[in-house]
Amino acid sequence: SPGNALDIVGDDLKVELPSGEHVRFAHLDYAASAPCARAAADAVQDLLPRYGSVHRGTGVRSSASTIAYELARDVVAEFAGARPGDTVIFTRNTTDALNLLARALPPGTTTVQFDGEHHANLLPWPNPLRLPTPSSPAEAVASLQRALETLTGPAVFTVTGAGNVTGEVWPVRELADVAHAYGVRVIVDAAQLAPHGPARLDDLGADWIAFSGHKLYAPFGAGVLAGRADWLDAADPYLAGGGASAAVGDRPGDLTWATGAARHEGGTPNLLGAVALAAVCEALMGAGPAVHQHEQVLLARLREGLAGVPGAVEVSVFGPDHPRVGIVSLALPGRDPAVVARRLGREHGVGVRAGQFCAHPLVRRLTGADQAGACGDGTTGLLRISFGLGSAAEDVDRAVEGLRRILGT
Ligand code: PMP
Repeated sequence: SPGNALDIVGDDLKVELPSGEHVRFAHLDYAASAPCARAAADAVQDLLPRYGSVHRGTGVRSSASTIAYELARDVVAEFAGARPGDTVIFTRNTTDALNLLARALPPGTTTVQFDGEHHANLLPWPNPLRLPTPSSPAEAVASLQRALETLTGPAVFTVTGAGNVTGEVWPVRELADVAHAYGVRVIVDAAQLAPHGPARLDDLGADWIAFSGHKLYAPFGAGVLAGRADWLDAADPYLAGGGASAAVGDRPGDLTWATGAARHEGGTPNLLGAVALAAVCEALMGAGPAVHQHEQVLLARLREGLAGVPGAVEVSVFGPDHPRVGIVSLALPGRDPAVVARRLGREHGVGVRAGQFCAHPLVRRLTGADQAGACGDGTTGLLRISFGLGSAAEDVDRAVEGLRRILGT
């Protein structure tokens, strides 16, 4: 059943508090990497005794593995709302997927983006045109429209589906409609959207979507780029080598690159990663809105609790009432978020993250800071609480109580 398939493996991990008490570890850092779902663990366990190299051999291991890999692609295509003609490429993660696509853009393309993106969606793009992060969805739409009105030459627009700092859901559909009205294609960084609700090309009206297995309850090392095939088929392979090449002659340059997904999946594919990722996609599709509802209940409980904690100020881009996934970041005026985060771990058995979450421009804006620290440097920035499938009311309550005590001393 979807319930069991989406149980979290190792959810009973216990930690010892300074009092000697043993408590369940409250993992509230799902936005960095989510723990593994039963569906993914079972899929890996099932394949371990049987796998072979995908697309490369004639034996039963290799052919079964090839079938498993291509079935995984089909499941991911369904999860990602792929339309006829769309392609699904397995990558290492979202960063890899976005870099791959960035290299496939036709020469001279401008990339329009807001400056609050995660670095993975800020830095790979050629010729960026950065718009200031808007303070409302309407302003986002208007700002994009203004930019596209004056822009000449080919362009794409890239945007996050849900922000990794505030969890806020971006008005992707509205932005995509504006972009398309100007003939501009749309890329969605769904790293934080996919784990929490539908992240579909068709519903979002996006041309491409990217996400990571390790934020989607699957192991590390597998990600997805899904969307339009034409530019990808026309581009040089992302990784030149075996798999990406269909025919190689004797002279350098005398070669024919592969077509389809294989063109950008050079080297031996990550079968276990792809199959595990697809297993979770299938389980999430089976679970439907239950996942989102579970998170929204916890989100309301967390925010209600935090409202009563002096010294913890929730940050947002679009305002407190805007819909968000299970992510809340706090400014802690006068406190070092890294120290507070460490104390939450040691004294309360709660794992969170402090720092700038690879979104330096946005965190600077949200905190009013004028200096960016290193990515993940907790001495400047925010404290982030994020959760998902395996999170419980008790985790959220412990985080709130822990913060109350730490900030009260
Ligand atoms: N985009 C967003 C919104 C993210 O939260 C992250 C991960 N923090 C990424 C992209 C990059 O994902 P990965 O590290 O898996 O490539």
